[in-house]
Amino acid sequence: NPILFWFRRDLRLSDHPGFAAACATKRPVIPIFIHDGQVDALGAAPKWRLGLGLAAFAARLDEKGSRLILRRGNALETLRALVAETGATAIWWSRAYDPDAIARDSEIKQSLGQTGLDARSFAGHLLFEPWTVSTGEGKPYRVYSPFWRAVKSRDVAAPDRAPAQIPAPESWPQSDKLEDWRLGAAMNRGAEVVRAHVSPGEEAALDRLYRFCGGAIETYKNDRNRPDLDATSNLSEYLSLGEIGPRRIWQAGLRAREEGASGAEHFLKELVWREFAYHLMYHTPELLNRNWRPDWDGFPWKTDERAAEIKAWKRGRTGMAFVDAAMREMYGTGRMHNRARMVVASYLTKHLMTHWKVGMDWFEDCLVDWDPASNAMGWQWVAGSGPDAAPYFRVFNPETQAEKFDPDGTYRRRWIAEGQADPTKTALSYFDAIPRSWAMSPGDDYPAPIVSARDGRAAALNAYENRDF
Ligand code: FAD
Repeated sequence: NPILFWFRRDLRLSDHPGFAAACATKRPVIPIFIHDGQVDALGAAPKWRLGLGLAAFAARLDEKGSRLILRRGNALETLRALVAETGATAIWWSRAYDPDAIARDSEIKQSLGQTGLDARSFAGHLLFEPWTVSTGEGKPYRVYSPFWRAVKSRDVAAPDRAPAQIPAPESWPQSDKLEDWRLGAAMNRGAEVVRAHVSPGEEAALDRLYRFCGGAIETYKNDRNRPDLDATSNLSEYLSLGEIGPRRIWQAGLRAREEGASGAEHFLKELVWREFAYHLMYHTPELLNRNWRPDWDGFPWKTDERAAEIKAWKRGRTGMAFVDAAMREMYGTGRMHNRARMVVASYLTKHLMTHWKVGMDWFEDCLVDWDPASNAMGWQWVAGSGPDAAPYFRVFNPETQAEKFDPDGTYRRRWIAEGQADPTKTALSYFDAIPRSWAMSPGDDYPAPIVSARDGRAAALNAYENRDF
C-alpha cells in the first residue's frame, strides 16, 4: 500500500530524512502538497515564492518518474480523502515548529492514528530538535552563546542523498493545477522585478551553497556586515521553503573549516542563530506575537499604519538613505541584508517609536526568505523586548552605520535614484516594482530626514528613561 508523503516547507529530495525513509521502504510513494489555511495566511511575497518553489519541485519529482499531487482544503479532510482514493496506509511528513502547525499536525496525527493509519513525523527542518537542547537545569536556553556552546560539537548525521528512484503508485490521484491556485495574485507589485533576483529550487540552492563555500566564505567573518558586497550565502530563501536542508549546509561549513576557510566558524555560528530562533519559538511561542519580556507591554509604541512616518518607512522615503536603500532592496528583490535589517528595525522601533509588530508584518509581506521564528526573534531582538535582546539604549545610528558598512555609498546608490545624475539600473527598477498609488518617481527630490538620527535617538531614550511601564 502506498505512503502519502505530505510536503510542506521541505521542497527538496536530498537531506530529507522522512522522504529518504519513505523511498527506502520500496512501497509506492505519493508526494502531495495541500493548500490549506497556513498557505492562505502567508504574506504576498512568501506566497508568490512558494508558487515558484512548488513548480520547481514538481519538475524535480517528474524527472524521477514521480509527481507532486496538489490539493486545496482543510488538511485533515484532504488527507482523509486521499487515503480513501489511494488506499494509502501511511501518511508521513517533516515536522514544523510554529504553534499553528503544531496544533494542526497533532490533531492530524491523533485523528488518523485512531483509524489505524501510520501517521508519522520526521526531523529535517533543523539540525537539533528543540527539545534535545537544554541547560544544565533541564530548561530551554534563553541566551544564544551558551546555546551555541551546547550544540557546536554535536554530531550531526550526514545528509541523505536524493533517492535514485521514487517508487510510483499504479495510478495517480487527480491533482489541482498550480496556476489555478494563483499564489502570485497578492503580489500586486512588479513581480517581474523581484523575479529577476530569485532562482528557485533545490539545484539552484545547492549551486549557491557550493559557490559560497568555495569563495566568499573565506572573507565572511569581516565582510558579512557589508550590504554593498555580495559576501553572505543568500541561502535563507532556500532554507525558508526547505529547498535545501540544514545538515547539507552544516556539512559544507564544517568541510570549509577543515580546509582552513577563515570565515567558516562564523558561518556555522550564524546558521545556529536560526536554530536558536526555532528553539525560542518552540519553547515560548508567544515570541511570535507578544513582547517576550512582558515589562515592555506598556511602552508607548505607535501602531497606526496610516501614520505618515510608517508609510515613509515602508516606501523607502524616510530621508535616511541607508534605511531607504534597505527598504527598497526588500521591496525590489524580496531580500534584505542582515545589517540593513537591524538598522531599519532600529529606526522604526526607536527613532519612529513604532511597534515592532508593524515592522515584522511588513517584512512578512515582502520577504521571499520569510521565516516565522527568525523574523520574530530579529524584531524583538532589535526592539529590546526579546530574549537575549540588544539593550534599549543601543540605538543604531543610521548615518554612522552607513559610513561604516557602506563606506563609499555603493549600496545607497544601488537603491536610491532621486538626486542622482545617472541613477543605477537597480535604483530605477524599484520604481517599476512599486504601486502607482505611492506616487513616487525617480525625478523627485530626495526628502530630508523625517526624524533625524540625533532627535530620534533622544526621544526614544527619553521615553525609555521616563518609563512607567
Ligand atoms: P548568511 O549570513 O549567509 O547566514 C547563513 C544562514 O544563517 C542564513 O541563511 C540564516 O538561515 C542563518 N542566519 C544568519 N543570521 C541569522 C539571524 N540573525 N537570525 C536567524 N538566522 C540567521 N532571516 C530569515 O531567514 N527570515 C526572516 O524572516 C528574517 N527576518 C529578520 C528580521 C530582522 C529584523 C532581523 C534583524 C533579521 C532577520 N533574519 C531573518 C535574519 C537574517 O537577517 C537573515 O537570515 C540573513 O540576512 C539571510 O541572509 P543569508 O542567507 O545571506 O545569511
